[in-house]
Amino acid sequence: MPRWGMVIDLDKCFACQSCTAACRMENNTAVAGPDQAEMGRAVLWNEVLPFLEGEYPNVTATLLPRPCQHCDNPPCIKVCPVKATFLDEEGIVEVDYQRCIGCRMCTVACPYEIRYFNWYAPTWPEPLTAHLNPDPETAPRPAGVVEKCSFCIQRRRKAEQQALVEGRPFTATDYIPACVQTCTGHARYFGDLDDPNSLVSKLAHSPRAMRLLEELGTEPKVYYLKQG
Ligand code: SF4
Ligand code: SF4
Repeated sequence: MPRWGMVIDLDKCFACQSCTAACRMENNTAVAGPDQAEMGRAVLWNEVLPFLEGEYPNVTATLLPRPCQHCDNPPCIKVCPVKATFLDEEGIVEVDYQRCIGCRMCTVACPYEIRYFNWYAPTWPEPLTAHLNPDPETAPRPAGVVEKCSFCIQRRRKAEQQALVEGRPFTATDYIPACVQTCTGHARYFGDLDDPNSLVSKLAHSPRAMRLLEELGTEPKVYYLKQG
């Protein structure tokens, strides 16, 4: 059984935001519009956060791409009163949108602030409607539920079905999230953290590897390679 994880090389990321765009198109996250965004209601399963240091003209920027960290010890799951969010057998933190009652406990519990409450029914301005992903697994979530990055889990299911159709075993390299596939700087890696021969596992054990807020014991499965 794989244990899926991601590695992001901060030296390679140049904040092109192709990961953010690919995530939005793959997963049909709604466009907030300026009024909702102004109120902090934009839904961004992935974003690239800039951290600026120094004063103009001597300013340095650290760019931090941030999807759900798919924690192995996720606080968001512990607080959900209806078990709408859960850790699946391959380590992906999923949300059952049929069960979610929108209490927003998980948004408070997540120390990475990557859960988004749908304050409004999802809409898209023309012509973006032409680009919606028709996959029923990515159907837009209704108002009143909390959504988040799923490591594009629908792609894992499709890859498993494709391997079955082709009469061969499913392998970890068959499955790749949209942000990893699209990253123009080749800064993102994805695969089985439990396979010592996988690139993602080797990078996660590199001396440059670190995880966000590791001291909290959340055991994230997103690793970052420090700028060096
Ligand atoms: Fe669970 Fe939904 Fe409440 Fe989050 S908002 S804790 S997923 S019921
Ligand atoms: Fe849950 Fe937040 Fe960890 Fe994702 S990053 S698994 S939402 S606690």
